[in-house]
Amino acid sequence: PFNDSMSFVDVAIIGAGPAGCMAADVLSRFSARGLTVRIFDKRSAQLENGQADGLNPRSLEIFESLGIIEQVQKEASPMSEINFWAPCPETGRLVRTGQIPDTTPGLSRFQQTILHQGRVETHLLDDAQKHSQGAIAPERSMLPDTLSIDESLVADHNSHSITLTVRHLSEGESTPDAYKFDDKGVRSGLFRSSLLSAAEEEGLYKKDGTAERVETVKARYLIGCDGAHSWTRRQLGVKMLGDQTNFVWGVLDLVPRTNFPDIRMACAIQSANFGSIMVIPQPRDLVRLYIQLPIRVEPGAYLDKSRITSETILATARKILHPYTLDYESIDWFTGYHVGQRLTESFAQYNRVFLAGDACHTHSPKAGQGMNTSMQDTWNLCWKLGLVATGLAKPELLETYSLERQPVAAALLSLDCKLARSWSSKRHQLQKGREEDRNAEKLGEIIAKGKAFTLGISINYADSIIVGKDGSRGAVTSKQYLASKLPVGERFYSAQVVNQASATADQLTTRIPFTGAFRLLVFPGDITKPAAKERLQKLADYLDSPESVVSKYTPGDLPRWAVIDPVTVHCAERTAVGLYDFPQPSIFHPHNYKRIYCDGPSHHRGDGKAYETYGISKEEGAIVVVRPDQYTGLIVGLEDTDMLDAYFAQFMLPAKDGGHPGAKVAEVLPPDWSKVVP
Ligand code: FAD
Repeated sequence: PFNDSMSFVDVAIIGAGPAGCMAADVLSRFSARGLTVRIFDKRSAQLENGQADGLNPRSLEIFESLGIIEQVQKEASPMSEINFWAPCPETGRLVRTGQIPDTTPGLSRFQQTILHQGRVETHLLDDAQKHSQGAIAPERSMLPDTLSIDESLVADHNSHSITLTVRHLSEGESTPDAYKFDDKGVRSGLFRSSLLSAAEEEGLYKKDGTAERVETVKARYLIGCDGAHSWTRRQLGVKMLGDQTNFVWGVLDLVPRTNFPDIRMACAIQSANFGSIMVIPQPRDLVRLYIQLPIRVEPGAYLDKSRITSETILATARKILHPYTLDYESIDWFTGYHVGQRLTESFAQYNRVFLAGDACHTHSPKAGQGMNTSMQDTWNLCWKLGLVATGLAKPELLETYSLERQPVAAALLSLDCKLARSWSSKRHQLQKGREEDRNAEKLGEIIAKGKAFTLGISINYADSIIVGKDGSRGAVTSKQYLASKLPVGERFYSAQVVNQASATADQLTTRIPFTGAFRLLVFPGDITKPAAKERLQKLADYLDSPESVVSKYTPGDLPRWAVIDPVTVHCAERTAVGLYDFPQPSIFHPHNYKRIYCDGPSHHRGDGKAYETYGISKEEGAIVVVRPDQYTGLIVGLEDTDMLDAYFAQFMLPAKDGGHPGAKVAEVLPPDWSKVVP
């Protein structure tokens, strides 16, 4: 192969799995500001079946924010209940021992759902293409060869300090045949599983000399989203730390024929002597079975893959499920995995190269977190990268990626470790007091207790320059009491509000979609009261001034609200005020009717009681600063503009062109339109 070209790019992404596709989609929102992105994958084609399929409510909230929730929900299969099965104390026969809702009610508007990883990747990539006018699309059959970082340049974030050579693979090189089907002709996922060593996996994509060419790519930033055997991680010399158990599990995706009654429910089945099965119903009548296999591998050792076939997995599943029968109409896919939990010692180098997803944390699929955590890593990283790479924010912002995501990965590994042990522990006939039973009973407890975490809702980011919690790392401490039910550092959750302009009921989060902007959610209280109105007017005067955070940090060539975007939710009676009662243009920007909402009753959907839901006093009001990724960054009073200044000054860069000069007050119509109504 010959090296025939050198190109420059702002961000290079290696790997188009869930983490890489999410990175591409988030960064695509910055392409209109000139950000260039390339995404490489060594495989010639997209994943068709197998691997991850669980989407937790937080991922669905993110899809809503990205505007792709309808497409995802149309194809997905929601989960409602988890059923537990174990041997009956008297007869030894499998019986249902408990049921819990799959998604704890009240935590999110979305419930856990199942959609194949390949479809999720497609939705994200389609969206990235749409937002980048086709510029960001995966480049397949591309295998990176070498990586070097010029340390003398890393401090200058405009420099292309990363040099990557990428081999354009031939069709033969990028489509490995090994392990593709078992002896029954069933499609195998073994060739991508944790049962393969990194060397075995690399060997699949061996260079046979037919590669067309090698290209040199100079990048400012690199994101390694290349999975558990991450090539990027190995180039950086970053170690994976953690343990492997000796448990091996098999996975079967099949259209079952069975008399087991709960086959369309999520189930945890623990047999007396033959191990456990986890059942996950999927779209298209498929069911996924995770089956504990009677195989042990020493930690660090690799199994003879030929011992795992769809037939051997099925035979074990039949024993566990006995006396229920298990047959199938078709088997779509199978794989096996070695249970272990590992975490990288670091998630980033020089604030230039980042690792995300399985490249920095691996675990068993029992908690259904693989795809979710991986996507949420790059959801966290890429708005920061977008702002820094387009010159709007300081490079220090990027340090918060590891700070926020490493503890999440560590918490996931600790939960997964407990779950994996409990799933694999032997379940005898239930007899009070027996050690094994106490272990087994713990499984239900661990699943139920771990729910808030596995649903993705309980994540609470520590104090930092972007989380004004207690001032321990950053310079600003929120007035948490002003919105007592919106913990700073947690994801901002939705409440119903009524659009002032159209009287339609809306979920607030649908009105603050992802654009890369911070939202200033202004809760001014009842603005028919003079004090509240005056307070809002003062805030508006500040926002409209050339000194405000809006004016200072928004380059003159971007729309005024592209970086910091105020959205107001008042609690006056809706018909007692009109749009033109709100100060212009920062609070009501004429012709933008999606900025002002009322907390009050709607005609058809009741009253969202947003102030009450968020713990905001109607007398005091509050400003809630919501980060682009929908986490609450700061809570202050309407008069605390100095705190807004201090918060944004920690990580934003004043616009190079001097920013917006301050907004001129637009034409004001008479504010008392309501008085013309007889
Ligand atoms: P991946 O999805 O692994 O994506 C990595 C991408 O990088 C791939 O497209 C790969 O081709 C590409 N790549 C790798 N190396 C290179 C390179 N050197 N150059 C270029 N491209 C490269 N999770 C669950 O929740 N439930 C499950 O049942 C489940 N089953 C799984 C079964 C298997 C066989 C595997 C491998 C994983 C499974 N997982 C499961 C885990 C889940 O798929 C991952 O957690 C999730 O996909 C991680 O996303 P990612 O983007 O970090 O990595």
